[in-house]
Amino acid sequence: MPELPEVEIVARRLRRGLTGVRVVAAAAPGVVTMRTFDPPLEELVGREVTGVRRAGKMPILEIGDLALLVHLMSAGRLGVFEGRASPRDRRVRLRIAFEDGRELRLREFGTQQRAWAKLLPAAEIGEDEAVATLGPEAWPVPPLEELAALVRQPRHLHPLLRDQRQIAGIGRSWVDEILWTARLSPFRQGADLDDPEVEALHRACDEILGGALELYERVVGESLPDKAPMPLKVHARQGEPCPRCGTTLAAVFFKDHVTTYCPQEQTGGRVLKDRRLSRLLR
Ligand SMILES: [Zn+2]
Repeated sequence: MPELPEVEIVARRLRRGLTGVRVVAAAAPGVVTMRTFDPPLEELVGREVTGVRRAGKMPILEIGDLALLVHLMSAGRLGVFEGRASPRDRRVRLRIAFEDGRELRLREFGTQQRAWAKLLPAAEIGEDEAVATLGPEAWPVPPLEELAALVRQPRHLHPLLRDQRQIAGIGRSWVDEILWTARLSPFRQGADLDDPEVEALHRACDEILGGALELYERVVGESLPDKAPMPLKVHARQGEPCPRCGTTLAAVFFKDHVTTYCPQEQTGGRVLKDRRLSRLLR
């Protein structure tokens, strides 16, 4: 799933490539994609793209006085293509055609239709529930005191950092990298962190998310790849040696995600119980 760095580079590339370009057609072949109906998508025709930005993991296209808020969910991708999409391309959920012949497409891979979009008056985008409920952006990292206040809660760090209402932009992949960089267990209680640990987390958010963005700025072109070249060092690499200390990376498997960590550096030498395995053995 695209997280903050992946969506930020998409927003930057679209901003550079589409600003000032006029819309000539807009349609949503995905029958459940649009979560709003008024104004209709056709209202975009004749308007120019005025900007592209991001709120958490959601790209926002500003098109005159309207704004298109997109949630990619796990399998949605935005891309710019030359020419018009084939009506037979069943991955296309939303398409916006421009006067210069290009087309912006929201495509979704896999059979489920979960990606969604809302067309809203630009002035009201901040009041939309999906935006209004977001915590502060994870990058640029909030000031240390702000991060300390939001992280010191009686919750495990892994779900806490992925909770968009607490801090926006981090998902299943980057949370593993951030916690590994900060040498913190995914199962530490946020409330238990001392000052040096919060400082390590603060540095790690900045370094990991900012580092991914720096890489994307160098390697991601205008057409946007379907899969970002994520520089992951530990996420989903269980069984491989820790790049820092050489200990075999371990993982805990949940129903829909995996948490990878270094037992030597993050959990005091303990390999945590694999919940998937223990359920099978029960
Ligand atoms: Zn290690």
